[in-house]
Amino acid sequence: MTISFEHSPELKALRTRVRSFVDEHVIPNEWRILEEDQHKKRDTLTALRERAKSEGLFVPHLPKEHGGLGLGIMGMCALFREMGRSPLGAACFNCDAPDQGNMDLLLRSAKPSVREKWLAPLVRAEITSGFAMTEPAPGAGADPTNLRTRAVKDGDSWVIDGHKWYTTGGGDASFLIVMARTGEGREGATMFVVDRHAQGVEHVRDVPVMSPPMLAHREAELRFHGVRVSEEAVLGNVGDGFRLAQTRLVPARLTHCMRWLGWADRALHMCREYVVTRESFGKTLAHHQMIQKKFADAAAGIHAGNLMTLHCASMLEQGLDKEARPYSSMAKNHVAKVLCQVLDDAIQMHGALGFSEDMPFSMWYRFARSARIADGPDEVHDVVVARDFLRGALETLV
Ligand SMILES: Cc1cc2nc3c(=O)[nH]c(=O)nc-3n(C[C@H](O)[C@H](O)[C@H](O)COP(=O)(O)OP(=O)(O)OC[C@H]3O[C@@H](n4cnc5c(N)ncnc54)[C@H](O)[C@@H]3O)c2cc1C
Repeated sequence: MTISFEHSPELKALRTRVRSFVDEHVIPNEWRILEEDQHKKRDTLTALRERAKSEGLFVPHLPKEHGGLGLGIMGMCALFREMGRSPLGAACFNCDAPDQGNMDLLLRSAKPSVREKWLAPLVRAEITSGFAMTEPAPGAGADPTNLRTRAVKDGDSWVIDGHKWYTTGGGDASFLIVMARTGEGREGATMFVVDRHAQGVEHVRDVPVMSPPMLAHREAELRFHGVRVSEEAVLGNVGDGFRLAQTRLVPARLTHCMRWLGWADRALHMCREYVVTRESFGKTLAHHQMIQKKFADAAAGIHAGNLMTLHCASMLEQGLDKEARPYSSMAKNHVAKVLCQVLDDAIQMHGALGFSEDMPFSMWYRFARSARIADGPDEVHDVVVARDFLRGALETLV
């Protein structure tokens, strides 16, 4: 297989524009955006979104006919890495999780009436959405086949009953994509588009979590009490739920990886600024070999993660979706761990300053830790990789 990570001149130019936008407009406003968010205000975020729109950089992941840049997965990866240098970057370009993956699902699988109702306002960032798959024990978690939420056909409608949690942004969302059981086995799950304010949808609470709330990223607990939706609300066909979840998750996983790599890379550059000036035991920190080792490990980890993600993206571009799956699992696990390690080291290398809220590392670490759980915990991805390797379906030296 030939693997080329060379981008076209147009894509390189676009990547530079996104990087400049993040450097000039997003990073200097990070604290202000978070501060406003605490008071339920969005002035700065909205202004940045307007600017991104006017510069033609909004919703870049979408096809051109839907206002995007028609980049393909490799192109998306190139831009997401730049946006990811700020954890608020993707939100400014309206391609953050879960909205980005949900836009994708609506485009691929929603009936025209449903797409018309929800996609356009979501693309314009007038509304947000949620993806409700995970349930409290004993329901769907690392093993989605434990799904307990049920949808039962009643005349022309489906009636949904169940209990979900960790629906990111579920409290603020205008609509939810809800995974429910409609039968048995692998064909026994279906996704429905549900109005978040429909009768019977209860927002129980936002689950208090390790990281502070950021933008719409609050983890909602929701109950569905006999929620009635039309047949039009079914995404794809009845029984497509698990297949669609894979279709959504593999590319979404790569975009996560690229955001996380950009973020880790920025943190490492911030560490460099500190260690070249801070002196300890008669020399700068940068001259201590134990500090150098942290940089060497981080640089290798970020570089490897970048190559792993791009390799997997190139497989998706060639239509090798099934073959790409274990590679996407490897990339996700590797990059999530690199991100957590780089941020932990950033705290360590900055000493007390790193632990303080004067620097962003401790807050970032708290956000980043979820990367090893959300979208499938480390162990589940390891199982996929090991299973495919053991049955001879995975080449390690591509
Ligand atoms: C910040 C955050 C945001 C999230 N956003 C969403 C969202 O928007 N929508 C949504 O539907 N879900 C979301 N999730 C849920 C996430 O997808 C689940 O947490 C994840 O799939 C794991 O499920 P669980 O938490 O029920 O873990 P469990 O199934 O209870 O597993 C617990 C632990 O057991 C171990 N384990 C599980 N299986 C195995 C195995 N085969 N071998 C060895 N060990 C194993 C792992 O260490 C795992 O962490 C989010 C989670 C977080 C933390």
